[in-house]
Amino acid sequence: QIKVRFAPSPTGHLHIGGARTALFNYLYAKHNNGKFLVRIEDTDLARSSYESEQVIINDLRWLGINWDEGIDVGGENGPYRSTERKDVYNKFIDKLLESGKAYRCFCSQEEIEAERKMLEEKGELPRYLGKCSHLSEEQIQKNIAEGKKFTIRFKVPLNETITVNDKVRGNVEFDSNGVGDFIIVKSDGIPVYNFAVVIDDHLMEITHVIRAEEHLSNTPRQILIYDALGFEKPEFAHVSLILGHDHTKMSKRHGSTWVEQYRDQGYLPDAIVNFLALLGWSPETEEEIFNMDQLISQFSLDRVSKNPAVFDVSKLNWVNSQYIKTTHVEYLTDLAIPHLKNAGYINDDISKDEHDRISKMVAAIRSGISYMAEVPAKLKIFYSDDVTPENEETMDIMKGEQVSGLLEVFMTKVQEADNIDEEFGKSVLKVIQKETGIKGKNLFMPIRIALTGQMHGPELYDIIAILGKDNMIKRIKSFLQ
Ligand code: GLU
Repeated sequence: QIKVRFAPSPTGHLHIGGARTALFNYLYAKHNNGKFLVRIEDTDLARSSYESEQVIINDLRWLGINWDEGIDVGGENGPYRSTERKDVYNKFIDKLLESGKAYRCFCSQEEIEAERKMLEEKGELPRYLGKCSHLSEEQIQKNIAEGKKFTIRFKVPLNETITVNDKVRGNVEFDSNGVGDFIIVKSDGIPVYNFAVVIDDHLMEITHVIRAEEHLSNTPRQILIYDALGFEKPEFAHVSLILGHDHTKMSKRHGSTWVEQYRDQGYLPDAIVNFLALLGWSPETEEEIFNMDQLISQFSLDRVSKNPAVFDVSKLNWVNSQYIKTTHVEYLTDLAIPHLKNAGYINDDISKDEHDRISKMVAAIRSGISYMAEVPAKLKIFYSDDVTPENEETMDIMKGEQVSGLLEVFMTKVQEADNIDEEFGKSVLKVIQKETGIKGKNLFMPIRIALTGQMHGPELYDIIAILGKDNMIKRIKSFLQ
């Protein structure tokens, strides 16, 4: 059975790249009726935090990426946090020490630095040359008895070609001579990522390791550990980098890089998932809108590109706008409310009527926005009574000969109406056209501008219904003065 995992280090927010890695794993598992596991790799004590872990878990769930086993949900291969697995790792460390495939290194930081420098000056790859691998058992015991600090290093066999058989990148070869005996346990007794990940993937029976390209260079070290312990290796698939619009590695400079930031700006989780899936994977058809089930049924690693993916915000905006058009208005209303509060348009307690009015407004403007943070600007026409024509062109239209007569007629109709809704909005224009002979642009543009100050915006009948009688009368009157 196929089993994959997402193994974030809880050192910050869930990045777009991490979310994509999680998604590809999830899709691969679900497509193959396999299992998806999430575990926390917190071996970097200084940078890891429980808060970050919670943020990542929360963001994954928000995206609709759920796991069958792992952190928070449990399973038979736990614990699912590296720092709680020290005993598990130690067993295998002992095995490597006993078989001579790893050794204690007592070299000081200065000695190691000096060696690096010397190699660099000779134009060689900086690496550890294995001084402590030659210590006698007596020397080792003496050092330990003296309380000398040590790391544990993996003894890298020389003159070997290590081949990563990668499902995305093909065969990638590494020369073992360039690796150097690397640290697997730090002097504080904590195993490093490269070691822990092998033990965890093995014990958790991971069949496919799908992760970011930046880990490709770690893979030969991991393969050496698999081989040294006699473990069967999983398949590897290293997914390409995500680049910003200027084709350099995506970073803060390019705008928002965390899932949380997109959530705060009012992107919908389904849209983000849809967009992320297309970052590096391509479907067989030209189609671009996919829900999770469709992604699951179509996803395959064969169609994951080895070229970097470019993060195109305008594409994300387009995808998101497609979802905004088709999502429940109630849900959009809930998303809009915090933005309206931020803008100072509403306060904390909203009456049922106000809520309904917000729903109507959101329904009226949703086809013109890309994400929910754009809502307040679009709703300014409803919340602000200051209606001034937005530019010269608008002002010129309002200077038209027929305009004040037309607005008078419109105002009378509004005053006479019992009920102002979309139906009224639609019929009143027809009636006025019949009565005055004014039609088309000449008819609706002055009314639109008098009501909103703008030439573009939601449907006029929606504006009429949302503004209601009093607001409209107030606005028309101030134009007629
Ligand atoms: N903990 C690693 C990271 O967050 C993941 C490594 C892996 O997937 O093997 O980058």
